[in-house]
Amino acid sequence: AQYLLLARDTTHLHRLEVMRRDFIANVSHELRTPLTVLYGVTESLEDELEDQPQLARSVQMLREQSERMKLLVDDLLLLSRLETGETTGPQDWFNPFPLFQKLTDEARILSGTEAHAIVLDADPKLEFQGNPDELRSACANLLFNAVKYTPGGTTITLRWRVDDDGARLSVEDTGPGIASHHLGRLTERFYRVDAGRTQSRGGTGLGLAIVKHVLARHEGHLAIESQVGRGSRFTCLFPLARIRRAEPSGP
Ligand code: ADP
Repeated sequence: AQYLLLARDTTHLHRLEVMRRDFIANVSHELRTPLTVLYGVTESLEDELEDQPQLARSVQMLREQSERMKLLVDDLLLLSRLETGETTGPQDWFNPFPLFQKLTDEARILSGTEAHAIVLDADPKLEFQGNPDELRSACANLLFNAVKYTPGGTTITLRWRVDDDGARLSVEDTGPGIASHHLGRLTERFYRVDAGRTQSRGGTGLGLAIVKHVLARHEGHLAIESQVGRGSRFTCLFPLARIRRAEPSGP
């Protein structure tokens, strides 16, 4: 009887969990359209208010906040898709090297005048079996976090290589690091180390939760190492079965 009761409880819990996910997915989806309109309108209003600086400043704030909301809704939607197992696309063999090049270029643009030294140290011949969009979003979250949370002028390295244990995609920075008692909670939704300070860096608190789910869908896992005052390293480990060397092309 006890067993039956337990079984009924877990089915009930499971149903509630599915309802929660569906609800988040639906709400995020419904919010996207009005937010896109809001963002678009404020953008064009701003252009017309050049001669009224005070009003233009208010409209600029509206635009920035609607952009923030849009990012949050996009992340929520992606996270709920990953959680429900609804794929964003198929998993195939591809060479992620060009993707890493693009992402390091984007990270340099994000860094701007902060001028982080962003280094790509990747094996250009390693192919990966997975979903390119999902890998992109995991890697972008780690790389852009490194830019957001470390002071300008420091070095950030994106590595992609294989060894006996599997393939490793890692992002290493020489920033402030993260105290060890936070490390276990970083991948929780909305968990942020210093809410006040990190708020101004414009994140959603969902980035590392997304990374964790992407990795789970590729039989990978995330290792976080950090030392306060020295920097952090986020490593995605993938099994060898998902890696192969590109065939040499042509005769
Ligand atoms: P977000 O960046 O949107 O706040 P994340 O889930 O990506 O959310 O990160 C959670 C928190 O982990 C961040 O708010 C930040 O405090 C901390 N963090 C992430 N990456 C780094 C890093 N490279 N260096 C220092 N702190 C970091």
